[in-house]
Amino acid sequence: MEGFTSQQILEDSVGISDVVSGDAPTVRSKKCRRVAVIGGGLGGLSVAYYLRLAGFDVTIFESNERVGGRANLIEIAGYRFDTGPSLLNYPWVFERFFAASGRSLYDYVTLKQVDPSIRFVWPDGQSFSLSSDICRLRQEVASVDPCSASRLLEFFADAAAKYRLAFDKLVLRNEDNFFSWFLALTLREMTQTSVWRSMHSELARFFPHERIRAAFGSYAMYLGGSPWNLPGLFTILPYGELAYGLWLPEGGIYVLVQAVETLLNEVGVRIIKGKRVSRILCDGNRVTGLEFADQAREEFPLVVSNVDVPTTWASLLKLPRHRRLAMTPGVMTFYWAVRGTPSGLGHHTIFLPQDMKKTFDDLLKRKSIPEDIAFYVSVPSATDSSLAPLGGSTIFILVPTPLLSELPELQFPEMRHQIRSKIMARLQMHGISIPEETILFESVWDPAAWRDHFGLFDGSAFGAAHNLWQVGPMRPRNYDRGIQGLYYVGASTTPGTGMPMVLLSGQMTAARIVSHVC
Ligand SMILES: Cc1cc2nc3c(=O)[nH]c(=O)nc-3n(C[C@H](O)[C@H](O)[C@H](O)COP(=O)(O)OP(=O)(O)OC[C@H]3O[C@@H](n4cnc5c(N)ncnc54)[C@H](O)[C@@H]3O)c2cc1C
Repeated sequence: MEGFTSQQILEDSVGISDVVSGDAPTVRSKKCRRVAVIGGGLGGLSVAYYLRLAGFDVTIFESNERVGGRANLIEIAGYRFDTGPSLLNYPWVFERFFAASGRSLYDYVTLKQVDPSIRFVWPDGQSFSLSSDICRLRQEVASVDPCSASRLLEFFADAAAKYRLAFDKLVLRNEDNFFSWFLALTLREMTQTSVWRSMHSELARFFPHERIRAAFGSYAMYLGGSPWNLPGLFTILPYGELAYGLWLPEGGIYVLVQAVETLLNEVGVRIIKGKRVSRILCDGNRVTGLEFADQAREEFPLVVSNVDVPTTWASLLKLPRHRRLAMTPGVMTFYWAVRGTPSGLGHHTIFLPQDMKKTFDDLLKRKSIPEDIAFYVSVPSATDSSLAPLGGSTIFILVPTPLLSELPELQFPEMRHQIRSKIMARLQMHGISIPEETILFESVWDPAAWRDHFGLFDGSAFGAAHNLWQVGPMRPRNYDRGIQGLYYVGASTTPGTGMPMVLLSGQMTAARIVSHVC
């Protein structure tokens, strides 16, 4: 499968070249050069970097002792767990990020391709694996449904066209008006986007077999949605992963975060950790600075918030005036340090339910923990043995849950036991045995923990939802229309959630600031 270069994708996007080209624009006055970034998640790190390259004086204030936000780290007795992201795709975004300051990603990180990438398993034991090797993938799909296998190339051709269209003309544009955004497409291109169809119906155009639709549709979970509520354009998710591969940095995802932090230090971004911002200060409709948890204040003419957008509105601006957003669900994540290597588990496995629609409806419509849960298990030590002591394994399990406001918070400790038992029963059903006595350490983060660690609104793991009304110009903008000098970056603003996307979000917000200030 042939991809296309990051250069092509990014150079065509409106406004972005301002902050990635070698000739960074100069900032008009010294006074307006000072920028505070609240939060050192990947989005905050990205915007700080691009602004620094454009000549700004940038300080990041991060409340935790480590940057990375959701992409964080738990280390215990030689076991190393990435807290959130475990699937690295679109490495071209990271390559381009490092190249913006004339560096190479590969001088900082070694990436290992994980192929076969993800294995899908159904309750009756049927399974198939994804691979970027098209012949191998075809065989795998054919083992479930030969008819679907014969449509695979057609699906890729269609999704590849959508992917190009998305990155060339839609995703990266700092456009405020829906009509200007969408009308930049020709009639043919509009038809190609399939935004009026759901991702599930779009998959049904190619794949007659429900299980193949379920497997490719499960990528909706990456955006915290379901294939029935995400627009058809999102078939670019499985395509993007297969075309550009699925990767693991040697040493785990956090090594990539550390590489980004090193890069920022090299270009001169100031990073202050353990510093919680309690309020964004404004004078009328203009931002003036920040107040910190220790009551100290500091003046800044420009502030970028990397704190989840609705948390910024509610907690840092204390303004109830903002719009109500549909949020992606919460997650319960388990981190197990295990003695031994469980057989039957590869690096990435998704355990799918018997009836995927019912499971998604339980979660997203009935707002309850599904009877038959869908969950994801990652054993990164299967690819990189340095992540666990000799003979040990690191196991990460992710289960989507309702939001805190949908399920009384008090129920979560009880839920934890229920969900854990369901996971154990399902693993046993497939002959995968992880005896309790081999679990040497366990940590569990429920949606309240995710909220408390990183300020995630309502415990939503992936930020604002990606339904048709919250994509492109309809997503919360990366600047505040009511408060001059205040900007946003990260998963709940444009373009959306995921590590590559928030890196691009930083680039877009920086381009926005440059266009306003310079
Ligand atoms: C469980 C899970 C699994 C995921 N899996 C994947 C995956 O496999 N692949 C992928 O690409 N993406 C994945 N994602 C999504 C990805 O992690 C996020 O989209 C991305 O990391 C969000 O980055 P961000 O910069 O927007 O925000 P965050 O990472 O949330 O960063 C915000 C930062 O602001 C800080 N902060 C908050 N309040 C304050 C305050 N008052 N003062 C100062 N600092 C503050 C926080 O501590 C945090 O560091 C996953 C997410 C989760 C939760």
